[in-house]
This record gives sequence, structure tokens and C-alpha cells, in this order.
Amino acid sequence: TYIVTDNCIRCKYTDCVEVCPVDCFYEGPNFLVIHPDECIDCGLCEPECPAEAILHEDDLSPEQDRFYALNAELAEVWP
Ligand code: SF4
Repeated sequence: TYIVTDNCIRCKYTDCVEVCPVDCFYEGPNFLVIHPDECIDCGLCEPECPAEAILHEDDLSPEQDRFYALNAELAEVWP
């Protein structure tokens, strides 16, 4: 799955949402998140993000690791 990380915070672009074929982006309190169970790993959103906030789960740095759980949690909470 792909994961949205901290660079997305307060980003106003939604290019990623527009290209996602399965609509698995959700609005968090101040950034977008990806539902890890719904993402089909197509990778289309990654190059679209102007903030380079979207990474594959395997490419997360140790500091970014917590964003996996955060994406999963916020995607469930925020409809
Ligand atoms: Fe959507 Fe594809 Fe990005 Fe997953 S990798 S969030 S399915 S555009």
C-alpha cells in the first residue's frame, strides 16, 4: 500500500485524489490519508503529489513509520 506522510500537512493540492482509480483517499484533520486495505498499489498517485508526501510502505523512513497506522486509523474515522 501507499501511505501519505507529513509533507501533506496543510497541502492544498488534491491531484492524488483525482487519479486514484479506487477512491481510497480520505480527509484527515489536516492532511489526506490512504486506506491501506483499499489501496491497490497502482502507484499512480505518487508522482502526482507536488509535496512528495506519498510513499510506498516499503520506502517509509523510521521517522515516517508511524504514518502507516495513522493512515489506517484516520481513514476509518473520517468518512
Ligand atoms: Fe489510489 Fe493507486 Fe495511490 Fe493506492 S497507489 S492510493 S490505489 S492511486
